Amino acid sequence: MYDVIIIGCGPAGLTAGIYASRANKKVLILEKETIGGQMASSPLIENYPGWSAVSGSELANNMYEQAINLDVEIELDEAIKIEVSDHVKVIGNDNTYEGKSLIIATGSKYRTLNLPNEENLIGKGIHFCVSCDGAFYKDKTVAVIGGGNSAVINALALSEYVKKVYLIQNLDHLTAEDILASKITIKSNIEVILSSTVTKIIGEEELASIIIDENGKEREIVIDGMFISIGLIPQSDIVKDILPVNKYGYIETNDCKTDIPFVFVAGDCRDKLIKQITVATSDGTIAAMGAIEYLNK
Ligand SMILES: Cc1cc2nc3c(=O)[nH]c(=O)nc-3n(C[C@H](O)[C@H](O)[C@H](O)COP(=O)(O)OP(=O)(O)OC[C@H]3O[C@@H](n4cnc5c(N)ncnc54)[C@H](O)[C@@H]3O)c2cc1C
Repeated sequence: MYDVIIIGCGPAGLTAGIYASRANKKVLILEKETIGGQMASSPLIENYPGWSAVSGSELANNMYEQAINLDVEIELDEAIKIEVSDHVKVIGNDNTYEGKSLIIATGSKYRTLNLPNEENLIGKGIHFCVSCDGAFYKDKTVAVIGGGNSAVINALALSEYVKKVYLIQNLDHLTAEDILASKITIKSNIEVILSSTVTKIIGEEELASIIIDENGKEREIVIDGMFISIGLIPQSDIVKDILPVNKYGYIETNDCKTDIPFVFVAGDCRDKLIKQITVATSDGTIAAMGAIEYLNK
């Protein structure tokens, strides 16, 4: 029986593991894919305090080393079902694990265009997060894909320092709030291209250009970077039977707490505005403190 089971080994889960283990709790983290979560796929992080610049894989590796040096157990196994009674049972693909408390830190995934070559060029011209990677494109030409609030906010933010932004939306109008969409019209370096979809991504080692279908006509757009802003998918399917989720699938919490006194939620899978590593580590701390308090009662 573990004191704390954590599902997800991103920055939220690793931080929760470090805190719980330092409080002498027996901790297990389950991870289905990559130690470090989304963070591990970032080539360069320049907004994590204490590091002027660090690769996501180095930061992930340091957090991992810190956790295992504190005797946190980490298993590569996907949690596929959670059963709650007076404790929790987590059924994984390989094993079943029992714990006195549970922290869900399953994160989210950026929605992609599902095009050939896209996966290869993530971090090499293709990005999702403007506050993370936008600064690499000062005085360069970029495309933002999408037309909702986040795409428009991203295009406006980039337009402050890049040379040109193409905002490419598949519908014949932007779906962002009017107040945001109207700001686009006064920006001379943003070109809005409606009724258009990206059909091809070109580039070997780095992104070179994209081909779009613009109202039935093929057009090549040469760009240095592309920010795909068509939404995030929270990885919350596993908790839908036990916890409430909002209309987008994010888990509803009260400051990382849930209505089940020994179940906590941390990081990007949680209903909150800002999704960054600093916020995920903060959530991991709060969730672990909640679990420790529950266990010490
Ligand atoms: C390319 C890229 C660059 C980024 N750059 C920055 C940056 O520069 N600065 C910044 O602050 N933020 C950046 N971010 C955002 C940041 O990485 C995330 O906000 C942060 O990683 C969220 O942490 P998390 O622990 O909540 O979730 P995640 O990092 O998403 O980790 C969740 C983990 O849970 C695992 N998991 C999910 N379901 C299960 C299951 N059923 N069983 C077992 N494991 C499961 C997932 O595989 C994943 O490893 C970037 C994101 C990306 C994709």
